[in-house]
Amino acid sequence: YKDRGRRITSWVPEEMKRKWGTRYIGSLAPQLLHVLESYIGHKYNLPKLDMFSVANKPGIGGMENWGLIMYQKDSLMQGKRSTVKDMERVIFTISHELAHHWFGNSVTVADWCGMWFQEAIPTFLHGHIPFKHSYDLDMVNKIKWLARKEVMRDECLIFDYSGPLRNLDDPKADKLFTPLHYLKGASLLYMIESLVTPNVFQKALQSFYVKYNDSYATEEELWEEVETAVGEGGVKGKRKAPKTLSEIMEGWVTSVGHPIVVVNRKENGQLSLAQRVCLDTSALIVDGDWWIPISYTTSSDPNFVSTEPQRWVEPEPQDFQNINVTLEDDEWIIFNVLGSGFYRVQYDDVTWKLLIDQLKKDTAGDAEEAVIPPINRAILIGDSFFTIREGKDWVKTFEMMDYVKNETSALVWDALYSHIELYYRSFPKEMRDMFQKYVQFLVKPAFLRAIDVQAWEKAFFRVVESVNDRAVREPVFDLSWDMKLPAVKTFSSEVALQVLNRSFDARIIPSEVQTKLWCVAVSTENPEIFEYVYNTYHDKKDTKERAKVLESLMCSKTHTTLLLNMILKNNVAGSKATLKVEIQQFMLYHWPDECEDILSFIEKNKDNIVEDDSELEEFQDYAVNPPTICKNKTLEIFGNITESPVNTFYEDFGQEPLNWLVNHQNEWI
Ligand SMILES: [Zn+2]
Repeated sequence: YKDRGRRITSWVPEEMKRKWGTRYIGSLAPQLLHVLESYIGHKYNLPKLDMFSVANKPGIGGMENWGLIMYQKDSLMQGKRSTVKDMERVIFTISHELAHHWFGNSVTVADWCGMWFQEAIPTFLHGHIPFKHSYDLDMVNKIKWLARKEVMRDECLIFDYSGPLRNLDDPKADKLFTPLHYLKGASLLYMIESLVTPNVFQKALQSFYVKYNDSYATEEELWEEVETAVGEGGVKGKRKAPKTLSEIMEGWVTSVGHPIVVVNRKENGQLSLAQRVCLDTSALIVDGDWWIPISYTTSSDPNFVSTEPQRWVEPEPQDFQNINVTLEDDEWIIFNVLGSGFYRVQYDDVTWKLLIDQLKKDTAGDAEEAVIPPINRAILIGDSFFTIREGKDWVKTFEMMDYVKNETSALVWDALYSHIELYYRSFPKEMRDMFQKYVQFLVKPAFLRAIDVQAWEKAFFRVVESVNDRAVREPVFDLSWDMKLPAVKTFSSEVALQVLNRSFDARIIPSEVQTKLWCVAVSTENPEIFEYVYNTYHDKKDTKERAKVLESLMCSKTHTTLLLNMILKNNVAGSKATLKVEIQQFMLYHWPDECEDILSFIEKNKDNIVEDDSELEEFQDYAVNPPTICKNKTLEIFGNITESPVNTFYEDFGQEPLNWLVNHQNEWI
């Protein structure tokens, strides 16, 4: 491909070229390169760019060698029938590796502790790939959302997981490249961008590049460049920040976790805010070392365009801080406009109710006219699961969820699915059963839209669907199945049987639901369906494609040994560590019913699974409460028996959440 006098070449195996055509190979890289060049203001400075693909291996998507970028094959090419997630991965990876040409290769970080911003800048730049060059993927909201879903969640639940971004005590190489560094890092850059405005931040990155090109830099030097770009007085003078950028960022880069902003609304409508830290205990501790930029908008003049912070929450020792905002009785406020700040918000009861009313209005009418945009709706759902810390607070989450029955945004359904999946198993039995019925009621309309076969047919043969319409099917289908919506099983097995007797064209099944649909069909234990999917598995050559089919097959509970052997044989990474995780994942859904087969498989193959027998202890948490027939063997192989899962998060749910569900059940018709 000749592009403005330079040569861009992609090297791919012949069969991939035939399979995927030139859609991604030929045109995407030059387009993305142009976008980055115009943002950075400096051209890619080599006469050639070679990109080549290697076999799929989990973990690394690409490697930014100078002028010779390596990609894992499914991060370089996908076709138009690929899932939205797969398309996103391609655009993420290519733009990320290209951006490293400027930040990472030309400008390097001064020491290992600065590695986070070497990864954060390219990740931040994905968000600047416009819709028209990313097949309409909404990149910036996707990155902000992933940071909340993956990093914030883990920072709260597995506190040990999250070190500070800049870890001076223990800069272990294996902890330098986690979602924390990429996604939280990028989120902090979006936060600074909101503070100084996009144009100024772009100017700062440009001059940062010019100054440290062919050299190295520290994060301090990046902040200085931003201060210079802001102009006289820096952020403190010109942007009315309470401190210099360097002082503000110190807390964000060196503290563990993220803040939760707690809202207090007095009866006269006066607001004050405080900050808390989310820990993996049932308490929100009063602490926090952050200078938090607060953007907000209210119902009297809703503005979801400007994300500029208008107030600040200061670090301890100040607790509730008056922010000089007074609301009318029926006026709501939303903090963190478009999720540009890396913090959660816990609203007071009055605001909470008003926000729920607005969400209901927004989803009752035309989606285009909704006041609160999808990213803020997803954040409200996500925060409602995480800011609560007492059992009774679940009532607030349930009240908020009620609006989603008319929700159409993929982002919001993803928020709901990923949080429900995480929590509902820890509910007490009676509450869990009622909750399931509640969610069945909420998800059913969306499920019926997701399985509209006529729409599938149209999308396959002629009509181009929007990215959202495609993406929304996945979380909706997954949630419906998790919550045991009866229609899922009926529909999936009907489709499967029709495919088997050739009255249904399997190609029209959208890729977003394929794995789950076949999983559900396999779970009916119809031997013909199992055989059909089993044959599909053997028709695939690629280990990652095989892994997807294997995922469907694993929904059978009567082929334990066969399936475990398939996992062993298809071990994508070829490593014991990943195999161990895959078997543990298998046990999550197959223990304890299939404990006998599982135990004899592990006993027989342990040399392939672990380096040393003591590692088998790591299976204890997956072999909880073994039935009598498996007790002795569990003890013998794993060294101990775990009696019940440990849940430190909620010891006591109280009666209120259950009562709420019971009192509302006659509405779920
Ligand atoms: Zn990178």
